[in-house]
Amino acid sequence: MIQSIPFLKKTWTVAQVVKINDSIDKIRHIWLRTHKPLKFKPGQNISLFLPISENDPERYRTYSIANTPNKEGLLEVCISYVEGGKASDYLFNKIEVGSELKIRGPQGKFTLPKKINNDLVFICMGSAVAPARSMIQYIFEQDIPRKKVHLIFGARSRNGLLCADEFTSLAIQHGEFKYSFTFSRETNALSATKRKYVHDIYQDEYKNPRKDVTFYVSGRPSMIEETVENLMQLGYSSKQIKYDMNN
Ligand SMILES: Cc1cc2nc3c(=O)[nH]c(=O)nc-3n(C[C@H](O)[C@H](O)[C@H](O)COP(=O)(O)OP(=O)(O)OC[C@H]3O[C@@H](n4cnc5c(N)ncnc54)[C@H](O)[C@@H]3O)c2cc1C
Repeated sequence: MIQSIPFLKKTWTVAQVVKINDSIDKIRHIWLRTHKPLKFKPGQNISLFLPISENDPERYRTYSIANTPNKEGLLEVCISYVEGGKASDYLFNKIEVGSELKIRGPQGKFTLPKKINNDLVFICMGSAVAPARSMIQYIFEQDIPRKKVHLIFGARSRNGLLCADEFTSLAIQHGEFKYSFTFSRETNALSATKRKYVHDIYQDEYKNPRKDVTFYVSGRPSMIEETVENLMQLGYSSKQIKYDMNN
């Protein structure tokens, strides 16, 4: 069954929750299926229209699509639980397999170039790895001609390493894929490396600016602002930096 709900002149479609997996540290993966498969580009996002407010404009939230385009028409989103968050409460406590959600999209320009001429460096934290995961998986699944691909992922602790097995196995299979991660709140062995934050990694490994690298940054506004500022201070141009703000 498919329905369209006019709101803000956009079309909303009904999607069914087909699978839920609570993977790690307050992160929930939800798989949705629409009646007619939604075509999307890796890196794009969808909006969910949720019964969390009396006021229509306050009822929608945006989530990046975390998987790659697939024949089954499945859309995977990774939701970080925000304490006191209305959508968080709804998506963690009120839905189950079989629930229906109204969705809109896909939308967003945080996507791969038509032709990959540069090294790609993805810098992200927490569930904001979702669009990076979609793009990285797509590159290797489709064997897209590419240069080097580097994922720099930040979590508070080992428990927050989202999709770690998947990225580790990709790095083992493909020499041109590098997976780096940091823990901001872990001590012991890792503190010895002095690389606690994502910033420590790219400021070290990309300290000599080059024209053949493009950065994809996704996360909370403060993390994006800091990263963009740091990269520009290192000498990279704004054209080399794409970002997706999760606010
Ligand atoms: C392009 C885009 C892509 C996004 N992709 C994702 C995604 O893939 N996964 C995902 O989990 N979220 C994503 N978001 C964020 C998501 O849309 C919601 O904002 C988030 O789920 C919080 O909604 P909420 O209703 O639970 O919290 P709200 O009820 O909106 O907020 C509750 C309180 O928490 C604060 N708050 C909101 N978000 C956060 C946060 N992340 N950390 C700390 N405090 C916060 C608010 O300022 C407010 O004070 C994305 C946002 C955008 C714009």
